[in-house]
Amino acid sequence: MSTQLQHYISGQSINGSGSGVTELVDPVNEDIYATAVEGSVEDVDAAVKAAHAQSKGGEWSKMTGEQRGILINKLADLVERDQELLADMDARAIGRSPIEPRLLDLPNTISTLRHAAGWADKLEGRTIPTPGYMGTPTLSYTQHVPVGVVAAITPWNTPLMILSWKVGPALAAGCTLVIKPATETPFTALHLAKLCTEAGIPDGVVNVVIGRGSVLGNALSEHPLVDKVSFTGSPEVGTQIQQRVAPQCKRVAMELGGKSPQIVFEDADMAAAVQGCAMGVFFNQGQVCAAGTRIFVQRSIADEFSKALAGAADSIKVGDPKEEGVQMGPVAKRGQFDTVNRYIQSGLDEGAQLMAGGVAEKGKGFFVKPTVFGNASNDMTIAREEIFGPVATIIPFDTEADAIRLANDTVYGLAGTVWTNNLARAHRVAQSLEAGAIGVNCWAPIDGRLPWGGFKTSGLGRECGKSGVLGYTEERVVTVLMPGASS
Ligand code: NAP
Ligand code: MG
Repeated sequence: MSTQLQHYISGQSINGSGSGVTELVDPVNEDIYATAVEGSVEDVDAAVKAAHAQSKGGEWSKMTGEQRGILINKLADLVERDQELLADMDARAIGRSPIEPRLLDLPNTISTLRHAAGWADKLEGRTIPTPGYMGTPTLSYTQHVPVGVVAAITPWNTPLMILSWKVGPALAAGCTLVIKPATETPFTALHLAKLCTEAGIPDGVVNVVIGRGSVLGNALSEHPLVDKVSFTGSPEVGTQIQQRVAPQCKRVAMELGGKSPQIVFEDADMAAAVQGCAMGVFFNQGQVCAAGTRIFVQRSIADEFSKALAGAADSIKVGDPKEEGVQMGPVAKRGQFDTVNRYIQSGLDEGAQLMAGGVAEKGKGFFVKPTVFGNASNDMTIAREEIFGPVATIIPFDTEADAIRLANDTVYGLAGTVWTNNLARAHRVAQSLEAGAIGVNCWAPIDGRLPWGGFKTSGLGRECGKSGVLGYTEERVVTVLMPGASS
């Protein structure tokens, strides 16, 4: 067993003052493969004070955007250097095939950091013409100033990538951070913080506290020196955080769950749609906030499509991702195993047609079956609630208008895809979907340059791209009286 994981505060690995220990369980064989300290409210206080000192008058607060950009680029280079290690850390922690983080998470993390670095010296203000102040000409200009100390609270499903969406833009804007990774996945957050030190980012700018969300998350949300909470996770916890920060009017960014539609029209390229929808719902064992779990298929092709998707599900080899040819590992934890199977049972109980997979027997490890339900309806539990597992719900539709209405009939609005070869229809439908990111003939348009976030209960605010960086700033306007100047 490796040594016990510790917090990283002010450039130091420390045990902190908490007394508990978390045992980290390998989802493949349920062995305890590492332990981690469990932080306390005092540990949060130490990390927040370190971040605050850098944010208010510390070395970091005095750096220019150009200097910050250089350091963030160095960080990106170090992540690139360690990318295999980082991919393996995240894959091991949730039982995922390391091929997936190598293909998506790490390249995305590196490019997100580089893109954010480029913004660090480009946060320009505006000069705004006005009639002046009580007859006297004025000059009004705006500035984007850092929000201050950011609490970054992240989930376990794609730990490093989601963290980079917060760290890159927050550093570019001039903020400092206290990171609280999910209990199951502290590794890459801790390694990233150490790489920050190696890159030359001053101690205290990026801190990590590990342990229970109920203790650390609450302490971060309530701490008076935390200016913004940037959260990715479940709608339930997101709501709790919003209630907790409301009395202090802290800024929040919320990236919550989804029940994203994939709409397949009869004029779509069938093979591409089947492959894309399979990827959209089964990637990372379906533990993806943007998973395209409600698949609306035009009735004329619904049978053919459903059989093909069921075939794709049946052909996925589930097992230990370290073994040759295995494409899908277990889900990340025991609770997730139970949840996914409970939803599959509810699909059966409510009369959806099981076409692949089904309820899994519990053996060693948290292995579930890639599952496809055909001929379902949008009011079934499997179509309403986020499962966060590899379960596809196929719902037939008749007209374009029906597809749009059904797709939008959800409390969520994170992502969506449209599969069609009709250009006008592609745009028409894309522009009708109440969701933050739409793919036309492709799934998961995720890129650090593109804004990411949800409509409706899927979130609040946007991460990545220029929107993500501006989310870590306050806009200030300065108006100067200019007596004597001609207006
Ligand atoms: P979760 O239970 O909401 O946990 C997310 C994070 O919040 C973890 O670090 C957790 O710590 C922490 N936390 C728990 N209680 C807290 C509290 N009272 N105050 C503050 N923080 C607290 O979500 P999850 O189970 O890890 O992830 C699955 C969910 O995340 C799904 O609903 C999924 O859709 C969503 N998600 C959304 C996106 C997106 O971009 N929109 C991306 C990924 C996941 P502990 O681990 O210690 O409990
Ligand atoms: Mg949780």
